[in-house]
Amino acid sequence: MSIVSLIIAVDGFSSCGKSTFAKAVAQRLGYSYIDTGAMYRAVALFALQNGIFAGNVLDVPALTARLNDICISFHRNTETGQNETLLNGKCVEGDIRTLKVSERVSEVSAVKEVRRKLVLLQQEMGKNKGVVMDGRDIGTAVFPHADIKIFMTARMEIRIQRRYDELVGKGIPVSREEVGRNIAKRDHIDQTRAEDPLRQAADAVVLDNSDMTPEQEMEWFDNLLQAKTG
Ligand code: C5P
Repeated sequence: MSIVSLIIAVDGFSSCGKSTFAKAVAQRLGYSYIDTGAMYRAVALFALQNGIFAGNVLDVPALTARLNDICISFHRNTETGQNETLLNGKCVEGDIRTLKVSERVSEVSAVKEVRRKLVLLQQEMGKNKGVVMDGRDIGTAVFPHADIKIFMTARMEIRIQRRYDELVGKGIPVSREEVGRNIAKRDHIDQTRAEDPLRQAADAVVLDNSDMTPEQEMEWFDNLLQAKTG
């Protein structure tokens, strides 16, 4: 296996640092990075903006009927060098990271038609390989033949603290309890939904980064890459 054009799948629980790790791996290898969670978040934002939650309940037929009106893409912000998520051509990078969207996204992502649309889009985005994709079902449903599959986890208190720091750092007022409830709820829905639930692929390698620095994570990855590619 050469490292020229691999597909690297990074799956795992909410808030265990998948995107930070996946971005660093992509940068190291000169690959593109695709944040599939951002795509589900953009659909949840669309549903919230378009009254598709009747009160507190997701109107699944209404969302399904509007799927063709949802166009999701990424563009590179040349100032920050970061990828940003576009919903129908508009940058929604900030809007999709709010707790309001986090609270609804797992209901939206459990809808079969939503998954069908986004999985196809993700397969198209990764078809030329040379990609690191993070999410919940990359190694099991999007690219079951991915060259390297990593399943990430971390202790709950660490995940809560990381997400809390991230939100507070962005000026979003939130308590640790709210963050903890949201992570636990999303994990539960993501693991128990009928369509492509979150689970570890049989051939995935587990990375528990609870007590690791970013440098140690990269060292871990280099060893894995060496073992996989020789
Ligand atoms: O990765 P992130 O936390 O941004 O993902 C938000 C939500 O999107 C997850 O909680 C999950 O419900 C959904 N998701 C998914 N499949 C993916 C990526 C994310 O169902 N591949």
